[in-house]
Amino acid sequence: MMTEPVLSLKGVEKRFGSFRALGPVDLDVGAGERLGIIGPNGSGKTTLINCITGVYRPDSGSVFFEGRDISHLQAHKRARMGIARSFQIPRPFTGMTVFENLLVPLDYCQVEGSKHDRARSVLASVGLSGRLSDPSERLTQLELRKLELARALVGNPKVLIADEAMAGLSEEEIDEVLKILFALNRSGVAVIMIEHIMHAVMRFSERVVCFETGRLIAAGTSSEIAENPLVQKVYFGE
Ligand code: ADP
Ligand code: MG
Repeated sequence: MMTEPVLSLKGVEKRFGSFRALGPVDLDVGAGERLGIIGPNGSGKTTLINCITGVYRPDSGSVFFEGRDISHLQAHKRARMGIARSFQIPRPFTGMTVFENLLVPLDYCQVEGSKHDRARSVLASVGLSGRLSDPSERLTQLELRKLELARALVGNPKVLIADEAMAGLSEEEIDEVLKILFALNRSGVAVIMIEHIMHAVMRFSERVVCFETGRLIAAGTSSEIAENPLVQKVYFGE
């Protein structure tokens, strides 16, 4: 069913003191897959991302990227290999234009052609061409989300992990972000969508996994997950 996994987690566990926030988790993500991750607040989703991207080193288990064990690599090395993430709360560099905001992460990337061209084309791909020379403080909530995605995409990643990229947006705005993510995925990028907006994650994902208290409790297609009794129990009680 799945192509060669681009990402693979084997027995990944993360503790804070004696509290186990995550795991053990086994999870494969296919190259070019659209994977949704759901689960209530505190279920370990962001901790999972932090283990994948290298913010945290798992206490046990391993993370593989394209078959290579990257568990010991620092975050910037993983980013350079092609693992990008957008943050739950966008924090653009203030006092800089939208365009300049992209030049900062580009400093750490190797790209073909000029960095300015790359910045322009990524900003165009998220619909921010008209905002290049505006200060980031002047962006709307939707535009901030787009800039956050653009900053993640500037290094041409193979995997994008979008942590609640649509929180607080209107239905129309959600559609816009979904369009951007679908287009990105069509270009071959695997997208991991962590999202509370259920209809969006269900519409987007080829496969959805659900976490509860740090454990992966269910996996399946959107409709399988919607009908899964364990998932229903987590979200709606008995
Ligand atoms: P989610 O993203 O699903 O809301 P998190 O991964 O942020 O959940 O958190 C999982 C659990 O780990 C929560 O109980 C949270 O309080 C705890 N946690 C997360 N980060 C830390 C940290 N740096 N120190 C201590 N506890 C943490
Ligand atoms: Mg979170």
